[in-house]
Amino acid sequence: MSLDIINEIIHLKKEKNAVLLVHNYQEPDIQQLSDFIGDSLELAQKANTVDNDLIVFAGAEFMAETAKILNPKKKVLIPSSMAKCPMAHMLTQKKIEEYKKKHPDAAVALYVNTTAETKALADVCITSGNAARIIKTLKEEKVLVGPDRNLAHYIQTQIPEKEIIPIPENGHCYVHRKFLKEDLMKLKKQYPDAVVLVHPEADPSVQGLADKILSTSGMLREAQTSSEKQFIITTEIGLVDQLRNKQPDKEFIPARYDAICIQQKKITVYNLYLSLLKEQYEIRIPENILKNAYASIKRMLDLSN
Ligand code: 13P
Ligand code: SF4
Repeated sequence: MSLDIINEIIHLKKEKNAVLLVHNYQEPDIQQLSDFIGDSLELAQKANTVDNDLIVFAGAEFMAETAKILNPKKKVLIPSSMAKCPMAHMLTQKKIEEYKKKHPDAAVALYVNTTAETKALADVCITSGNAARIIKTLKEEKVLVGPDRNLAHYIQTQIPEKEIIPIPENGHCYVHRKFLKEDLMKLKKQYPDAVVLVHPEADPSVQGLADKILSTSGMLREAQTSSEKQFIITTEIGLVDQLRNKQPDKEFIPARYDAICIQQKKITVYNLYLSLLKEQYEIRIPENILKNAYASIKRMLDLSN
C-alpha cells in the first residue's frame, strides 16, 4: 500500500478528529492504522466512551450500528457498504415476534451480530465474550437466544438450569461452519501438545473438542497469559495474523486456512481512505429504533462491568 495513502489517512483522521475502531478479523494494514482493536464487546465498550467527532468503523456493519446506537448524535462511517454479516440478517423482527408469542414468559437475549431493528426487540444484547455471564443474571428461566444457534448451544452448556431456545432454529455463521470435527481431530493428532481454542460460533461437535471456548480477544489474552507454546485456532483466519504478530515466540495453527469472512474483508486501506475523505458510508438508524436498541445494548454494557 502506498505510503501516500497511509499518510493521507493519518492526516484526515487528525483533521476530522476521527477515531478508527477496528475488529480483530481486519487485515494487518488496517489494524496498524487503528486507534483501538478489539472483539465486539470491547469495541462496544470503547464506542461508549469515545469523545471524537467522527467514528470510523472497520469491521462488520452490525458493529458500526452498535457504535451509532451508542452515539446517536455522532457521525459513524463504515468504509464498505458490503460489510454486512450474513448471520445478522438471519433473524427478523417478524421471527422474534413469532417466538415471543409462543414463549411469552421468555427473555430475549440477542447476539450483537444482529440488525438494529432486531436489537430494538431484545431485553438485552450479548457477545461471544459475555453471553453466559449476562444470561445468568436474567430472572427468566427461559431465554430466546439468536441468531447463532451454536452460541445458544454453548450458553446452554454453561447454564443448564435455564432453558435456552435458539431463534431462528438454524442461524449460523458460514465462516465458523467450515470447521469440522473430523478435521480438528486430525489436527489434534498431528499436534498433540497444542491447546485447542474454539470460538462459540463453531458447531457443537467442534466445541466438544476445545480446551477453551473464547471470543476473539479471549483467544488473544489466552495466548498471551498461557505458558503453553502451541495453539490450534478455530476462528476466522485474520485472528491468526494478530496472534503471530503479538506472540512471535509461540506457534499458531489455523484450524482452516479458508475460514475467511468475506464481508469483513471488503474493508481495505483504499476504501478506508475514501471513507475518511468523502465521509461515506454513513450509518443511519431510524429514531424509533435507536431508543429501544440503545436500552438492550446499554443493559449489556452495565451488566458486563
Ligand atoms: P468476537 O466478538 O469474538 O470478536 O466475534 C465477532 C464475530 O463476528 C465472530 O465471527
Ligand atoms: Fe458474521 Fe461470521 Fe463474519 Fe463474524 S465471521 S462477521 S459472524 S459472517
